[in-house]
Amino acid sequence: MFLHGTSRINDAGHLEIGGCDVTELKAEYGTPLYILDEQLVRRRCREYMEAFTASGLGFQVAYASKAFSIMAMVRLVDEEGLSLDVVSDGELYTALQAGFPAGRIHFHGNNKTPDEIEMAIDAGIGCFVVDNLVELGLLQAIAARKEATVNVLLRVTPGVEAHTHEYTSTGQTDSKFGFDIGNGAAYEAVKVAAGQPNLKLLGVHSHIGSQIFETDGFQLAVERVAGFARSVKEGLNVEFQVVNLGGGFGIRYVEGDTPLQVSEYVGAISDAVKTYFAGIYSKLPQIWVEPGRSIVGDAGTTLYTVGTQKDIPGVRKYVAVDGGMTDNPRPALYQSKYEALLANRADEAATETVSIAGKCCESGDMLIWDVELPEANSGDLLAVACTGAYNYSMASNYNRIRRPAVVFVQNGQSDLVVRRESHQDIIVNDIVPARIAKQTVAK
Ligand SMILES: *Cc1c(COP(=O)(O)O)cnc(C)c1O
Repeated sequence: MFLHGTSRINDAGHLEIGGCDVTELKAEYGTPLYILDEQLVRRRCREYMEAFTASGLGFQVAYASKAFSIMAMVRLVDEEGLSLDVVSDGELYTALQAGFPAGRIHFHGNNKTPDEIEMAIDAGIGCFVVDNLVELGLLQAIAARKEATVNVLLRVTPGVEAHTHEYTSTGQTDSKFGFDIGNGAAYEAVKVAAGQPNLKLLGVHSHIGSQIFETDGFQLAVERVAGFARSVKEGLNVEFQVVNLGGGFGIRYVEGDTPLQVSEYVGAISDAVKTYFAGIYSKLPQIWVEPGRSIVGDAGTTLYTVGTQKDIPGVRKYVAVDGGMTDNPRPALYQSKYEALLANRADEAATETVSIAGKCCESGDMLIWDVELPEANSGDLLAVACTGAYNYSMASNYNRIRRPAVVFVQNGQSDLVVRRESHQDIIVNDIVPARIAKQTVAK
């Protein structure tokens, strides 16, 4: 397994993260356990801030909190000076409860409810990323009623769609998100937005995909957005102060993944902005980006305890762990690949190929197909790397499995940041109507 950040194998042959031996973390917190390498998260945040500072452009780096939204993470991101994206009242509530400055919060989503819009206006968030005309009308109406002026970006689809290892350039983007540049919808939206008395149009937003390993897709998006900015300036006399280029910067999950350095992504984007906007505006727009996965993904490790095994001679050996698709649905959802090691015997050579199964009642509940490991025994610890993003935030209680605890580790210290759910938590929202509660089964 590739060792990220502060992860290393210690003298006892155990995996150690942030100076903490995972066998001790297991003893203290149990498994499954999400372990976050705090130093690596901070390093990723600083890489973005430093690369943009070096670009000389005005900027904001907004952490896309959907990747991993908990109060401690929000605090950490605030400490590092980033802004924050939220896409629901729940993420907004988390941010506000964590004391994140509202002025640096951006609200996303293709179907914000009136209640969410009210909550966000009342909180005084920095801007709304408006997805469609229905939302634009709703936002204007609510802002007018509250006698507020709200900042907006319009989400546009530039006709660039990035897939994991390639991007495709399409004339007409088939997406549920945003205003299409190609068919004129984005132009109309600028016209409408600029005429709303309670909205202040800051600029545009474009997000082309996720887990992207090249810069060409971003550069093409900048070129298209710049062309759009030119037509809007000429036709409507509107200038964008902000161009938000979204997230999607790729990370290394497994051997063979070849992400770029943060500085390479940022350098390519800022160069493209300088190139394509130079002839349009006298003052270059601010550049905002929204990394999620690349801030927190490789800093996370999930620790499991090995339980049962099923060996089908000549076919496959299944090794089952005490978690699965409830704490990491990505393999089942996206066929995502992960690497793993036996964390309490991390110095031993691999001797067999096995597949890691979860404990849910689903054949698709697999974490890894085919991983090389030493022969595992019940009670061994299995560590799966790169689970910081879209794991805890996508976790479920399927099979009424309790969601795991989360710890931050750094400098030999571990801090519990999410406690493990209890049996009581599982039924906390259940209500049994009285007419059923009193009855017993007739014999
Ligand atoms: C998901 C998303 C992001 C973050 O994507 P990552 O791949 O995690 O960097 C940023 N912006 C928008 C609009 C998104 O939907």
